[in-house]
Parts: sequence; C-alpha cells; structure tokens
Amino acid sequence: MATLQAFSEPPWVNQPSPFYNESHHRLRKWAIAWADKYLAPVAASWEASGKRDEAVFAQAGKDGILLAFAFGAKMDATAAAAAGVSPPAGIKPEEWDNFHDFVLIDSLCTVGSGSAFMSLHSGLAYGAGPIIHFGSPELKKRLLPDLLNGKQRISLAITEPNAGSDVANVGGTTAEKSKDGKHYIVSGLKKWITNGIYSDSFTVLARTSGKAGDPTGLSFLVVPRTEGVSTKQMAMVGAHATGTTLVEMDEVKVPVENLIGKEGDGLKYCFYNFNHERLTIAFIALRYSRVCLEDAIAHCRRRIVFGKPLLEQPVVRHKFAHCAREVEALQSWCETLTYEQQQLSTLEANVRTGGRTALLKAHAGIVLEKTVRECTQQLGGMGITKGGAGGRIERIYREVHMLTIPGGAENLLLDLGVREELKLVAKRQGHKL
Ligand SMILES: Cc1cc2nc3c(=O)[nH]c(=O)nc-3n(C[C@H](O)[C@H](O)[C@H](O)COP(=O)(O)OP(=O)(O)OC[C@H]3O[C@@H](n4cnc5c(N)ncnc54)[C@H](O)[C@@H]3O)c2cc1C
Repeated sequence: MATLQAFSEPPWVNQPSPFYNESHHRLRKWAIAWADKYLAPVAASWEASGKRDEAVFAQAGKDGILLAFAFGAKMDATAAAAAGVSPPAGIKPEEWDNFHDFVLIDSLCTVGSGSAFMSLHSGLAYGAGPIIHFGSPELKKRLLPDLLNGKQRISLAITEPNAGSDVANVGGTTAEKSKDGKHYIVSGLKKWITNGIYSDSFTVLARTSGKAGDPTGLSFLVVPRTEGVSTKQMAMVGAHATGTTLVEMDEVKVPVENLIGKEGDGLKYCFYNFNHERLTIAFIALRYSRVCLEDAIAHCRRRIVFGKPLLEQPVVRHKFAHCAREVEALQSWCETLTYEQQQLSTLEANVRTGGRTALLKAHAGIVLEKTVRECTQQLGGMGITKGGAGGRIERIYREVHMLTIPGGAENLLLDLGVREELKLVAKRQGHKL
C-alpha cells in the first residue's frame, strides 16, 4: 500500500539511527508485506460492513502478531511457547523489544484504517495486560495460550455511562461474592468497549466494595461471555469494524478464580497499563499522519491546476512543511520515550515517563488532527470522497477522534502530564507538592 513520497517513511528506514538494528528493518518489511496482503484488500469492505473477517484474525494469531500485541514490549518466552506461537519475522521472544513493538504497529498501520488495524489489535492489546501482569499462575495458564494464538478473543471493559475520564467513579458494575464464596455475581453496563462484539471474555473493572468514587473498592475480573452477558455494537463516526460495543452483564456467575490479582487493587492495575496504551495510540496517530502526507503529496504531484502540478505552488509546499515538521518531531519524541521505557522496568517507566507519555498521546492527536485537515484541503473534493486518491485521508479524517478520546481524552492528559512532571521535580528536590 505504501508509496514512496517525502515523509512517507520515518528517517530511520534510510538514515543512521541508534535505536534500530537489522531485526527492526526485517520486521518492518515483513509487517508491511503482511498488511498489504491481509489488511489493505479488506480495509474498505470491513469499514462498510462494520465487521472484521475472523479468518484474518486467526491468521494474525498464527503469524505471531497477536502474541506481540498482547505483550507489547517485554515478551514472556514461556508463555509464547505454551501458546505454540513465535513473534513475527523470525525474531525470538527474548529478543523482542520496545522498538519491535513500535515498528510492528507503525508498519501495520500503513494501511491507514482503524477498521483493519484496531479491529485486530486493541481488545487483546489492552485487555490481556492485566492478566499478563497481575493474573495468578493458574489464570495465566488457563487463559493466556488461547488468547495469544487467537483461538479466544478478549477486550478491556472499564468505561461506564457515568465513569469515563474519572475511572474511580466506576460503580455501575458490581461484583458480589455468592454465599458459598465460589462465584462473583457481576451486574452492570460497560460502554465503548473496543472489539467487544468479537470477544469471548472481558477484562472487567467492577466494584467489589465501597461506592462510586472510592478508589480502593475496585477489582479486575475476567468475565466470560456466558449466561447474562449481552453485547450491542455502537454506531460510531468511523473505524466501524473495531466493534465499539455496549456490554451488559446481568447477574453473571464468574468463578472467584477469575479475579485478577488482589481484590480492591483494580484501579492500581488499570493505571499500570495506561502508559503503554497511550504510547501505542501515539504510534498509530503518527503513522496515520504519514499516510495523509503520503497520499496528499502524491496527489499534488499529479494534479494539474492553473497549468502546473499543485506541488509546484510554494503555498502548497508550505502547508506540507508545517505538517512535516510536526510529524518528524513527533517521531523523535516517540523514539525517545520508547527508548526510556526500554531501559526501565514497567513500574519505573510509569513513574518516570507517565506524565510525558500522557502529553505525547495528546500531542499525537493534535498533530494528526492538523495534518489530516491540511491534507484534506490539498485534495479538494477528492479529500472528502470515499475511495480513490483521497480514500485513506477521508477515512482517517473520520477516525481522528477514535484515537484522541480513548486512553484518556485531551484535557485530561494535558493536565495529567503537567501534574506528573511537577511531582517528579518535587521528588527530585526532596519535598512533596
Ligand atoms: C472509540 C473509543 C474506544 C474506546 N475503547 C474503550 C475500551 O476498549 N475500553 C474501555 O473501558 N473504554 C473505552 N473507551 C472509553 C474511553 O476511555 C472514554 O471515552 C474516555 O476515557 C473519556 O471518557 P468519557 O467519554 O466518559 O468522557 P468524559 O469523562 O465525560 O469527558 C468529556 C470531556 O471532558 C474532559 N474532562 C474530563 N475531566 C476533566 C477535567 N477534570 N478538567 C477538564 N476537562 C475534563 C475530557 O478530557 C473530555 O474531553 C473508548 C472510547 C472511544 C470513543
């Protein structure tokens, strides 16, 4: 799908970089070929039907893509072996690093379609995290193999109609122990759950004690799609096949063994996973920005207006320049934070990079919003027409806020970013804020 245009590829592909080695280049080629073969041909039809094709999801499982999505950066070789899958492009599980994570997401997103990418990625990538990091050995052994090889599907269910940005306000979903102590009885409604329609189970944040607003009474449970669970796809602005879903749970019997970690620690686990989620959303927004530049520059080379190609107009190049300087700066910021997170444990990375990762995620959305706007303008009518030269740009234009709102909306993340950095400075100076 990718064509060679200025700014269509990140600099490391052709220039020296301290962050990438031969395996990252190999992975990039492999993943672009995979996306061209399995995703590019179906992106438009999945978007139109609002459904992904399960055969492609199964292929992603077989080829180790789902394994990579679930672990993100640091991969557990034993879990990979138990699932019978290996990472893509011949990379060993113990070699898989944060830049492989970045390159895989970046390369698969060259299709420029949330329906194609997020329909495979986001339920598992965000839903498996709490199990991987905090699940009991028994829970991991029971659930992980089939999640990692794609035989089972999962999604993350935190948000409720009355609890979005304010996660501690989760209260509409309750989990009460049965009298015999063998089950939790779970009831409640979860909203905007990505990949929910496809899921066999849900990583649910539920209230096991206290009232909405109390941060200590929340727990994570794996709720299987069983009696009492119903799902309904929501009508969104774009990326329809990601399957944004309402999940209703009505007195669902969940074995107590499906509790993730400790009762009451759910909010802590939630925050633990947010940092990586936000970084990956920035990766997607970065690649989407490049896709917009790629298609707009290609169009402006071809399109003759007033007797010459649009790209020969300085004012048009000036528009691209302003987008490109922000895209290239975003690339460097993503690489810096990826490098820092690679050097630190997840916990340390959350503390030391959490604020700047929140700012990065908000910034990436702002860069994409500006880039897609400018690129749409350069295409004229083609920029708002489905299919054809502006097809990817039109699709991304509708998808921008499918990235800026999940994982923390802009106001919240900008404020969080500053507060976290203030805390770090205060800590370094040896006093509390
Ligand atoms: C496409 C999509 C996919 C999603 N996928 C999932 C998923 O898989 N799982 C899941 O659990 N949830 C998911 N969500 C939910 C998502 O996490 C929430 O939508 C998000 O956290 C914002 O919550 P909200 O929509 O309730 O907005 P609100 O919390 O009502 O916020 C509305 C606006 O107010 C701003 N705001 C909030 N607090 C403040 C403040 N203190 N000061 C100033 N401004 C503030 C916010 O930044 C936002 O702009 C998804 C949402 C979307 C749109």
